[in-house]
Amino acid sequence: MKILPGNVMSCNLDYEVEVLSRIVSINTDVESKIGYNECAEVIAEEAGKLGLNVSIYDSVELADDSKHRPNVVAKLDVGSDLTVSLVTHYDVVPSGVGWSSDPFKLKIADGKAYGRGAADDKGAIAAALGALKLVGEKAEMNVVLIASPDEEVGGELGVGYLLNRVGIKCDEAVVLDASPEFVSIGASGVVNGWFRVKGVQGHAGYPHKAVNPIYGMARLIEGLEVFSNLRATRFSKIDSPPNSPVKKVWGRFSVTMVRSGVKSNVIPGDAEACFDMRTLPDENPMEAVEEFKAYFLSLAKNLGLNAEIYRIGVSSGYYTKPDHEFVVRFRRVISKIYGREVLIAAELGGNDGKFFAAKGIPVVSFGCIGPDTNFHGVDEFVYLRHIALVRDVILEYISTHP
Ligand SMILES: [Zn+2]
Repeated sequence: MKILPGNVMSCNLDYEVEVLSRIVSINTDVESKIGYNECAEVIAEEAGKLGLNVSIYDSVELADDSKHRPNVVAKLDVGSDLTVSLVTHYDVVPSGVGWSSDPFKLKIADGKAYGRGAADDKGAIAAALGALKLVGEKAEMNVVLIASPDEEVGGELGVGYLLNRVGIKCDEAVVLDASPEFVSIGASGVVNGWFRVKGVQGHAGYPHKAVNPIYGMARLIEGLEVFSNLRATRFSKIDSPPNSPVKKVWGRFSVTMVRSGVKSNVIPGDAEACFDMRTLPDENPMEAVEEFKAYFLSLAKNLGLNAEIYRIGVSSGYYTKPDHEFVVRFRRVISKIYGREVLIAAELGGNDGKFFAAKGIPVVSFGCIGPDTNFHGVDEFVYLRHIALVRDVILEYISTHP
């Protein structure tokens, strides 16, 4: 990693490591949601000790599974005309197997802290609390620290709930769920769904009496690989993250699941497949949907197939202009802490920034998730120096009124 702290205020991370250790030790698996209540209580308790005004908003009322989803909102009100949201999430993906040490016991070694969620995104919670602990009387803007669940499954009952149901307000948002290598000003949208080729089911001994949809599906998927190559020639105005194979964020389309058939001697009646299309941050995803539909229908017609698309889901991306006053100001602070200029780029994935952007609130993303930190993998870790950097960037940012 090339990042060297230029002006890190203090390398003392005792407090941040203690907080991180407490919250990593609680399994907040997004699937079972087992530790949500306990983890939210620990974060609320830590925020309360710092004198923040803490509320917990549980979106359980909207959940199909009746499981609690407590959203922690901790406010610092200094009477400023400007309020920034610091956005984090405490849910994690399942730990999986094969870890070198217990994923729910923080292990410190060689300047790294290992544990599930250490990078994504509990390190950011520790860094944000660390900044709010240090800021004291120096805060020049109001802060709303958000620690939400369910980010890993789209965020509707996390940050989406806070903005759309609870009505949390702010003027700008820093999503602390990203890389420290660049300032992210956008994220790709996601379009996913299914398509089906219909045939006629029959006995495999009498194929002349059946229409096998699997061959049609194979030809259709081949045609969609051409569509994927076509989408890859669409480029955003915004740069890709460092070390990407393409300079500008590009269109991506993948077929991600295929299924058909129940028995070796039965020709199935239909075949289904799933797709995932990542749109450009500065593209209207609905236009991409229309483009896909038109391509698909013409392809199916040319191949003589009875095929249809169904269950389309659309999640918007977002894009904050690089010359937006907030982006310029935030980037200036990072450059000051790093002691050098930082790049601007957009994410290839998505994050909770979309909920703010949908309300017209400008968003930047930045955080402790270095590209080599095995986030979502085994032996996930966070660099301690990245926690210090993120803490110091937040501290400097909230101490500087424009
Ligand atoms: Zn995350």
